[in-house]
Amino acid sequence: MIRKKICLLGASAVGKTSLAQRFVKSIYSEKYHTTLGAKIDKKSIDIDGKEVTLLVWDLQGEDDEFKIRPSFLRGASGFLLVVDLTRHETLVTAFSIYKMIQDSIGGLPFVVLFNKDDLTDSFEVTQDQMDEMKQHGWKMLRTSAKTGENVETAFRLLATAMLESDNIVES
Ligand code: GDP
Ligand code: MG
Repeated sequence: MIRKKICLLGASAVGKTSLAQRFVKSIYSEKYHTTLGAKIDKKSIDIDGKEVTLLVWDLQGEDDEFKIRPSFLRGASGFLLVVDLTRHETLVTAFSIYKMIQDSIGGLPFVVLFNKDDLTDSFEVTQDQMDEMKQHGWKMLRTSAKTGENVETAFRLLATAMLESDNIVES
């Protein structure tokens, strides 16, 4: 059996817990509770006939008082980097987390999630800014934990990228 640790990273209140809960339990809540430390859930999915158990580490959001450190990612095979489409500063935080990981751990598979895609009237992150990321070759998706849009797809895309990177190491 394949077991993989993945981390949900990003600024506070971008929807990390909501995405994890939507994926693992198919539930959604409007209530906001700050996640302290880490909350771990697991779910098994089938990728090309292989059963992959994802250990989903829902980590505390990064803000002025709390910074994500390399040690949180120990043993992780990949991560989801979550941006809130309605707050531009969360894109800046995502870039700084990405840089911290590149500088410390190096190239782990990851997918950027532009979350809260249902809040169409309040977008602060522009299509141009998203296109720019895409030009770097980053995998990215627009998601909504509220409607469920692309949530399953996001975890599957990351899991597939992790299995591919395993194959590269083995061969
Ligand atoms: P976290 O701090 O990143 O774990 O963020 P949470 O998952 O706790 O979500 C913060 C707030 O945003 C909560 O009130 C959620 O209900 C709300 N939220 C999360 N995802 C979405 C989404 O896709 N759409 C909308 N409209 N609200 C969301
Ligand atoms: Mg949380």
